[in-house]
Amino acid sequence: MRFWKKKTRTAVIVAAALLVAVIVSFIICFYTLDMAPVFNYRVLVHNYGAQALNVKMTVSVPLFSKRDAVYLYLGNKDITVNSCTDSLGNNRETFLSEDGIITIPVSRGSTTTIVYEANVAVLGKHGSRGAITGDYAVFDGDQAFLLPAEFSIFFESGLKKAVSRIKFDFDFQKEWIGIIPFKRINNPDWMDIYAITKNAFVFGAFEQVSGFSDGLSVFALPGQVPEDVSGFGSLYSYYKDLFGTAPPEFNVVLLPSDGPSGQVIGGSGTVTVAASFDRDSLRDWQLLSHRMCHAFYDNAAPYMNVHVAPNIWLNEGLVTYYENLATGALPETLKEKLGVDVDRQLTLTFNQYLYMRFKEPFIYNFAPMDEELLTSPAMTEFLHYTTAPLVVKLFEDESVNLGNSPNALLHYCLDENAFESTYTAIAAALDLLGDNGAKFCEKYLLGIEIPPLWDLKAHQPSSAEILESLNYIEILLANWQQTENEDYPVDVVSEQEFSLAMETINDGRIPVMSITLDLSLRDYCPELYAILNSYYRRASQQGFDLDDKDLRFKMLER
Ligand SMILES: [Zn+2]
Repeated sequence: MRFWKKKTRTAVIVAAALLVAVIVSFIICFYTLDMAPVFNYRVLVHNYGAQALNVKMTVSVPLFSKRDAVYLYLGNKDITVNSCTDSLGNNRETFLSEDGIITIPVSRGSTTTIVYEANVAVLGKHGSRGAITGDYAVFDGDQAFLLPAEFSIFFESGLKKAVSRIKFDFDFQKEWIGIIPFKRINNPDWMDIYAITKNAFVFGAFEQVSGFSDGLSVFALPGQVPEDVSGFGSLYSYYKDLFGTAPPEFNVVLLPSDGPSGQVIGGSGTVTVAASFDRDSLRDWQLLSHRMCHAFYDNAAPYMNVHVAPNIWLNEGLVTYYENLATGALPETLKEKLGVDVDRQLTLTFNQYLYMRFKEPFIYNFAPMDEELLTSPAMTEFLHYTTAPLVVKLFEDESVNLGNSPNALLHYCLDENAFESTYTAIAAALDLLGDNGAKFCEKYLLGIEIPPLWDLKAHQPSSAEILESLNYIEILLANWQQTENEDYPVDVVSEQEFSLAMETINDGRIPVMSITLDLSLRDYCPELYAILNSYYRRASQQGFDLDDKDLRFKMLER
């Protein structure tokens, strides 16, 4: 009896001690731990004739969390929030700031459900950024998901506290397959969220095209599989050799280019690219090459600072430079059919660069390292896809001349140490270009000297092609200008105006440039010279001040 009593007493003491330990641990955890919330997205992907997804997002805040608010980035996403409720179904208050950040007050252990519609058919640079048709649904993560605002303000340490797990569930038609880049990401860092925004989420009656090596998969709708698919593998192998590594998997989804939604680019990231594709279009191969290069780059160099100005232009410059070189690796018959000529493409880019710099000197004369200061999307477009690949070309040429192995700049940029700061281009020039490094920085990175790529003259195409590509850049940049000022005038040069300019090429010289430059330009490309000469001659004849920054508006006013 006494024995049992003793045993009971011991058990009670142990139980009490355990209880106290649990309570104390709980209190310690309660006041010290700060666990991040879990985000869950349930997406309804059905063809109801609408171009919108229905998304039910839940944010679960752990008991051991100190968060009192969750911040989501709405920005300019085409998202309509239908409701925001707590676990009892009561409305939760939300606040939207001017910079597009939604604040939702939360408490420990709470669950918040946000139901929203996301329009996927938003117009992007290369077509609709998504589509929902009878055959497929495709969209990029940036359109579909309300993601932690800490991502958009490049607050990486804040991001760690913002979300501990992201989970996706998709409800789509039974007869469709899903090509889904991620289903769940634990402890996402900045690059993980970046990958969510960029990748395509694809659903549809796709079939897999056979004949590719490990790592690359190509999908197309039934009856739309291209006869010859060798080009995809050629690009993939080119990048695998160039980077020395490849994404664990890479899916290319070919969408029809004449579908009900017109041109579609439903996302392009490290795992999936889904876009309208016409095998006979050189532009489509160039775009695919560009997107594939980004995927390999982001896989090899997954660092946030790659995507922060003034490093973005370097990333885009390298990708645009190699996009072109990679097309040289396409099969010969395809290259012939498409008219691939790597040198001619570079020459056209240099022509476009010179044309816009001299035509709009107040807009397009800026140093690449001033990327952060750029004030318009037209300037960014010009820097990323026109100036930057030329600076990369010049860098690469100088580097090889100094005895470095080819592609030294790219390989330099794949090292994490290169991205300790956002001045990677400067560090690369100083490290790789020896005694010429400082001069290179001064002239082409921090200064506005023209990269002396005059030798490209040897690859000038026909006059008609030169005129077409100059008009192309004029229209492209004017379209960007018009997103901010709809009165911005477009100056397309007609064939007739072009003939007249060529006939009067010897009338004077271009007053806005030095004699040396005038001679170099004329020698490099007479067509380009004639058009610029005629532009400034007209301005002079009409009595305009050539240094007026509104010259274009005054000259082209109707
Ligand atoms: Zn790009």
